[in-house]
Amino acid sequence: MYDYLVVGSGLFGSTFAYEAAKRGKRVKVIEKRSHIAGNIYTENVEGINVHKYGAHIFHTNDTNIWEYVNQFAEFNRYTNSPIANYKGEIYNLPFNMNTFNKLWGVITPDQAKAKIKEQIKRANIQKPNNLEEQAISLVGSDIYGKLIKGYTEKQWGRKATELPAFIINRLPVRFNYDNNYFNDKYQGIPIGGYTQIVEKMLSSSLIDVELNTDFFDKKDLYLDNFPKIVYTGMIDQFFEYKYGTLEYRSLTFNTKILNQKNFQGNAVVNYTDSSTPYTRIIEHKHFEFGQQDKTIVTEEYPKNWTEGDEPYYPINNKVNNEKYRAYQKLSESLPNVIFGGRLGMYKYYDMHQVIASSLAIVKNEFESEQSIGN
Ligand code: FAD
Ligand code: UDP
Repeated sequence: MYDYLVVGSGLFGSTFAYEAAKRGKRVKVIEKRSHIAGNIYTENVEGINVHKYGAHIFHTNDTNIWEYVNQFAEFNRYTNSPIANYKGEIYNLPFNMNTFNKLWGVITPDQAKAKIKEQIKRANIQKPNNLEEQAISLVGSDIYGKLIKGYTEKQWGRKATELPAFIINRLPVRFNYDNNYFNDKYQGIPIGGYTQIVEKMLSSSLIDVELNTDFFDKKDLYLDNFPKIVYTGMIDQFFEYKYGTLEYRSLTFNTKILNQKNFQGNAVVNYTDSSTPYTRIIEHKHFEFGQQDKTIVTEEYPKNWTEGDEPYYPINNKVNNEKYRAYQKLSESLPNVIFGGRLGMYKYYDMHQVIASSLAIVKNEFESEQSIGN
């Protein structure tokens, strides 16, 4: 009866389901949670769209992906400009002239560069071997000590000296007064939240969605009964952890409704010291410039993933990546199962990358067929 079973109603699975239905295919989507949309799920509480699985800001340089996602929602002009709170001292992120001015009183880019250069020289690191050395050799010891060390060690649950250098490559440094965190051409938040995007993707009469349904309750039956499966859960779980578990970081969220209009004046405030147990506080209304009387805030506590937790962040170090490659090789013996998304591909993908990678699979899957619909 169905052409495809899609396991997981996150952005990867839903993009695939939408494109398959557009081509006249019948699709069944199963989802173990009680709602669709995976980690981009937002829920309207007190008129505020709450990002239930952490702050999500859409950003991309790819015009095609931007136009693609804009079919499903209208985006606002939100620009991510997080604030860092280090023991009550407030700094702008990403590291820019506002940050350098507050730290050292410098006014010009040349003064800031000289200050950083002097600190890098003093640290005398020849070849950075870990995140701490990489960070100090990029931005010097003051920024590392106040804005990187505490946050990073909380986020990853390890000493910065035991973390790979590449994690810090994501942190931009700028010698101008621009507080925009992303360098991408397009950025914004869907007005009315993210859930509507997935709702629209799954709205075709050719798609049936079944919530509260775990693939592993009837794995063999699904494999026997569906000609093709798109699986977006954990790849190591699919293969019963044959080569051992892949590591993830998890999070717990503590969300509060507050009887005040404005709690912190910004959507994202990072707590970069080591004693505050959470990494950041999100104030959801600011993503959509909300004027409600109440406000909703979420503290984000990082933790090690153990079975039963949500696997939010793949830890793409050497050991895990090698393990993943072994699973990927095993998956080649199952040509009727496509592994996709953050968990199925064990990649630290952002939303635009998930859509692009799902569309690439779609192209591969249907390129010999003529597309119907628009
Ligand atoms: P998911 O959204 O995880 O969807 C997978 C779905 O499969 C889930 O609904 C899950 O319940 C379901 N599932 C799993 N196993 C089974 C099973 N056995 N049976 C049935 N269903 C199953 N990206 C950005 O672009 N910008 C951001 O600002 C941003 N911030 C983020 C902040 C946090 C805290 C996190 C964790 C991620 C962030 N991301 C951000 C990344 C973004 O969430 C992902 O790129 C995207 O949601 C991944 O989509 P997916 O479909 O691959 O996975
Ligand atoms: N980071 C940091 N201080 C901050 C914010 C980020 O040191 O205030 C570091 C930290 O190591 C983190 C990495 O930069 O893991 C990437 O952070 P970002 O917020 O860009 O990515 P996300 O965690 O949202 O994927």
